[in-house]
Amino acid sequence: MMRLLIVFLLSSLAMSSGLQIFQKPISFSKTRQALTLEYIRQHYDPKASSINIQPVMVVVHWTATSNLQSTWNGFNNEILTGRADIARGGKVNTSAHYLIDRDGTIYQLMPENIMARHVIGLNRRAIGIENIGSRNAPLTKAQLEANAGLVQLIAQRHQIKYLIGHLEYGRFRGSSLWEEKDKTYFTVKDDPGADFMAALRARVKSAGLAFAERP
Ligand SMILES: [Zn+2]
Repeated sequence: MMRLLIVFLLSSLAMSSGLQIFQKPISFSKTRQALTLEYIRQHYDPKASSINIQPVMVVVHWTATSNLQSTWNGFNNEILTGRADIARGGKVNTSAHYLIDRDGTIYQLMPENIMARHVIGLNRRAIGIENIGSRNAPLTKAQLEANAGLVQLIAQRHQIKYLIGHLEYGRFRGSSLWEEKDKTYFTVKDDPGADFMAALRARVKSAGLAFAERP
């Protein structure tokens, strides 16, 4: 009942901003919860006992895939497969809080207060937005509008100070927000494209979000 009420209230909030968000939750069983905690202990804090996060940042991505349902199916898997570049980082599969289709439809995949594995070093600080697209299929105008609305909505709900594209996350290496203990665990990213981030920043300028650590 409480859960229904919360979903209703959040939906109402989203509707009041003119933004429609569809719930399409991925599997997050006890197994995935345990693997998430294992990831946190391995990378951030050996003594951690919770997979909850305190987000101060939104990180925007593209999926490098072309189809919503197959991408959702991929995130729905709880165990990481076929990712040689990050396999040594742990077993829990990658995910994001939101997934946005080419036509701008927004799907929420998991609660905002639970850690998703989507950005090395910053997962406990960041809400992740994935977008169906790639270098060969740059993100659309509809996705720009959807991201702009969603970023502003998230910024109202949390103490969000930063907005970055995945390609920019290295700027936070060595900052007070960076938690990764393994200095060699880092991958170079190009998503969601520098042009998209420039357009998104122009679109949400009033929210006053920074792209590097504030002094
Ligand atoms: Zn990414």
